[in-house]
Amino acid sequence: MHILVCGGAGYIGSHACVELAARGHQVVIADSFVNSSPRVLQRLQTLVGAPLACHRVDLRDRGAVEGLFTGQRFDAVVHFAALKAVGESCQRPLDYFDNNIAGTIHLLQAMQAHGVHRLVFSSSATVYGDPDAVPVREDAPLRVTNPYGRTKLVMEQLIGDLCASDPGFHAVNLRYFNPVGAHPSGLIGEAPGGVPNNLMPYVCQVAVGQRDRLAVFGGDWPTVDGTGVRDYIHVVDLARAHADALDFLVREGRSANINLGTGRGTSVLELVRAFERASGRMVAYDIVARRAGDVAEVYADPSLAHALLGWHAEHDIDAMCRDAWRWQSNNPRGYEDGAVDADAAGGAPVDAALSR
Ligand code: NAD
Ligand code: UDP
Repeated sequence: MHILVCGGAGYIGSHACVELAARGHQVVIADSFVNSSPRVLQRLQTLVGAPLACHRVDLRDRGAVEGLFTGQRFDAVVHFAALKAVGESCQRPLDYFDNNIAGTIHLLQAMQAHGVHRLVFSSSATVYGDPDAVPVREDAPLRVTNPYGRTKLVMEQLIGDLCASDPGFHAVNLRYFNPVGAHPSGLIGEAPGGVPNNLMPYVCQVAVGQRDRLAVFGGDWPTVDGTGVRDYIHVVDLARAHADALDFLVREGRSANINLGTGRGTSVLELVRAFERASGRMVAYDIVARRAGDVAEVYADPSLAHALLGWHAEHDIDAMCRDAWRWQSNNPRGYEDGAVDADAAGGAPVDAALSR
């Protein structure tokens, strides 16, 4: 299939592009690079064995989004493009509504106008808020606790309304739990700008010596060792599910909300120990006060993903830590490292706009 990947230069999107290309799909990336680097394109070219087309497009620009669909025919869209920092979303909610929701509306409008009827959407376990019970099933109550989460819930809802209004339009909302790790090549991975908000990139930066100590947010949660428990999932497993979701849309022609997790919870200290085993480095930490808005324990019931997509996670926490460490130690400054010519964007045939 000919697939438009919005946000394909980002952390999860770049891994999905590798998987989609490996399955023989033709991939076109659209990204504003608001939270990614054009340098990823050369890494992708190395992994895929051919350049991937890429357009620098901000989904907030309705005309530019429309332009993407003019002159090329897509069979499906995979939509990763969003701002995703919870704390920032509390400080700048309108920017999050504009970027995530308005951008998605423009994308859906262009898809409808051009008769593109298949969508795989990056949703999040954040739509469950603080769940009543674990493991979390897809029919658990949806309630969000911050503006970022609200954008994900609203986007799911407006996609649902579009599906209801147009019987030919089908979407799979993939609710990711905690994506971590990196491609086993060490060529692509997560490259957060500034201080990482999430546990794994923070642990990586402590291990590589960029930060002194990890602050563990709370040692008195009602969990196995008092620290927060999450369902970490390897980004390569996650990427695979997007290709499986596209196959599902083609095969079954219906919509679904699907959890993507391993079904296993890992505490902060369990992850720290796994990372120390994988890296051979000590991760110094202090247990500090709980982080506002955190919850004790969240992990998925991933059985629907298996039933509908034939998917299950294959990598365990040790593999996640190993691959995260390989990426981090090979690229301590993310895509700033390595002999990559950013201006040439790796020689990929990028949109003229990309070199402006
Ligand atoms: P990321 O920031 O690495 O990737 C998102 C990409 O979208 C970036 O390349 C960014 O430049 C691009 N983008 C953002 N706004 C855009 C716009 N208006 N127009 C065009 N491009 C735009 O994030 P990620 O971790 O790869 O996350 C991908 C998706 O998965 C996001 O929708 C995120 O909300 C969702 N998600 C992520 C996590 C996680 O922990 N990483 C968890 C659950 C859900
Ligand atoms: N966490 C932590 N220190 C950090 C970052 C995160 O102790 O610097 C904890 C956090 O309290 C939670 C777990 O690690 O229990 C995962 O946090 P993350 O922000 O990665 O994911 P989320 O909370 O969004 O699921």
